Amino acid sequence: MEIKEEGKFKKLFKRYGVLSLACVFSLALALGIALGIPKTEPVTTSNIEFGLPMTNAVVVKDYADDRLQLNESLNRWEIHLAVDMSSENDAVFSIYDGVVDSVDSNSLDGYIVTINHSDGFVSVYSSLSDNVQVKEGDSVRKGQQIGNASDTATNESKDGAHLHFVLMKDGVEVDPNNYLDLQNK
Ligand SMILES: [Zn+2]
Repeated sequence: MEIKEEGKFKKLFKRYGVLSLACVFSLALALGIALGIPKTEPVTTSNIEFGLPMTNAVVVKDYADDRLQLNESLNRWEIHLAVDMSSENDAVFSIYDGVVDSVDSNSLDGYIVTINHSDGFVSVYSSLSDNVQVKEGDSVRKGQQIGNASDTATNESKDGAHLHFVLMKDGVEVDPNNYLDLQNK
């Protein structure tokens, strides 16, 4: 009985097996093509490849526009539309080619360099030490050192020497993590 059944199956397979296999393959192929066609839009629509503002840096306070984070220096909870980072090597670099829009200083933010880039991007570097290496109107290159991270920003003094980095697009703060690979460095 069993042998008979097996024989039947073999016959069936001989007749339809190849056809079924062909069907399965074409189905898989069609599915693959169908899944491959709709491409999701990337997070960034810019072709700019930004560099990093610091090397071997650790993110000490991340960007978040949907939750409050404790500012220990001011002892209050606040929205932090920037990424704070520190590194043993405290050199700070321009993330891309651009023109220095301003070099300012105030007791809350320390020394601040603002750089205009193309595509509506502006990068802002605060809590720099007083040895800022660029001045207003200077053209800078991607990776060019502009200053050093410090603890000059009294509104974040408890975080120690660090860079408070802001990235703006068309006048609005954006999450730098969507444009720069800041984590795991
Ligand atoms: Zn900060």
